[in-house]
Amino acid sequence: MKILVLNCGSSSLKYQLFDMPKEMVTAKGLVERIGIEGSRIKHTKVGSNAVVKDVDIANHKVALKYVVDLLLDENNGVLENLSELAAAGHRVVHGGEKFASSVVIDVEVIEAIEECVPLAPLHNPANLMGIRAMKELLPDLPQIAVFDTAFHQTMPPKAYIYGLPYRYYTTYKGRRYGFHGTSHYYVAYRAAQLLEKPIEDLKIVTCHLGNGSSITAVDGGVSIGTSLGFGTVPGVIMGTRSGNVDPTLILHIMEQEGLNPAQMSHVLHKESGFWGLTGISSDLRDIEEAMEKGNERATLVVEILAYGIAKFIGAYTAAMKGLDAIVFTAGIGENSALIRNKVCDYLGFLGVHCDPGKNDEMTGGKEGDISKDDSSVKVLVVPTNEELVIAKDTYQLVSQS
Ligand code: AMP
Repeated sequence: MKILVLNCGSSSLKYQLFDMPKEMVTAKGLVERIGIEGSRIKHTKVGSNAVVKDVDIANHKVALKYVVDLLLDENNGVLENLSELAAAGHRVVHGGEKFASSVVIDVEVIEAIEECVPLAPLHNPANLMGIRAMKELLPDLPQIAVFDTAFHQTMPPKAYIYGLPYRYYTTYKGRRYGFHGTSHYYVAYRAAQLLEKPIEDLKIVTCHLGNGSSITAVDGGVSIGTSLGFGTVPGVIMGTRSGNVDPTLILHIMEQEGLNPAQMSHVLHKESGFWGLTGISSDLRDIEEAMEKGNERATLVVEILAYGIAKFIGAYTAAMKGLDAIVFTAGIGENSALIRNKVCDYLGFLGVHCDPGKNDEMTGGKEGDISKDDSSVKVLVVPTNEELVIAKDTYQLVSQS
């Protein structure tokens, strides 16, 4: 069964074509600058060279038409005809409290995703554009939504209610939702496979550390707490986002500098983090390079990041009353031996012992255990694969219907 996995941004569209249940990717690509001058498509048939097309792409429907044509293309395609395509699976950022798992998209689901727009004003409209464009292009193709927030819907109220007047929760849906759920789910379950233990018996902290980062406590296979919240600013320091900050400092800065909410939001999302502290870069590779050259702020960023991650792991160990494994994933988690080593260094008292040799080797998409043989808590690196989760959920839902 051929399944098209789609991740639609406001001006971009990433796709992968899966052959299920073989879990094989046969083609993938990226459409950039949709609706902007200079749009282009990069398409790769797995095993062949990438094709790049510079073409005018006015909207997501035009983008999808190009994608479908490329999938059917005689030289670069992987489909003989469109009837081979069984479904499309969409990444949808926010499902609010409504969606705790993936669903087949119908009119009610579209309305519910629309209702969540105030909670994810940048992402949900883009996801909806992709869903509507696909519906217009191939009206009979089943479409499935897989939500970034769904995995965290198992959190208990004590983990998601903020200490604000309760009416802010009931009126504005103001609570912790958490994000990167598909990634946390994938790496936690993959870790259980690698450890050859049932997930139900494991207490795992999953560290998704990329441009955006979040840390999750996965107890017996379900999320019981996560570091991102109502939005995507809290938790550990990120490329351009601040991580946890005392809210009264934010109010103070707004007053002092006369900033309105939109301007302060810009500071918190785009001008803070590694970039805000160093003025060098939002990319940890550049920060690590500057640190090696003796840049003090870059060194401070690395220290703040490792300290923040270690504190969350400590907190979640208490929340779960135990810890069996730590999993690192995403750009930083999969590649930065420096950060992983510094984090583990704080946690020796919990029985976390990282093997320096194994740690140094685990980069560039490798998967495995980096702990010492006598480490009572296992430390794993697992490259994330959100697309595979979307393909599997889509396959399962389409097979059932
Ligand atoms: P992602 O959002 O998952 O693509 O992750 C992006 C982040 O991963 C950026 O901060 C990159 O600097 C970081 N990253 C990627 N490769 C490395 C590396 N080799 N060493 C350190 N950080 C890396």
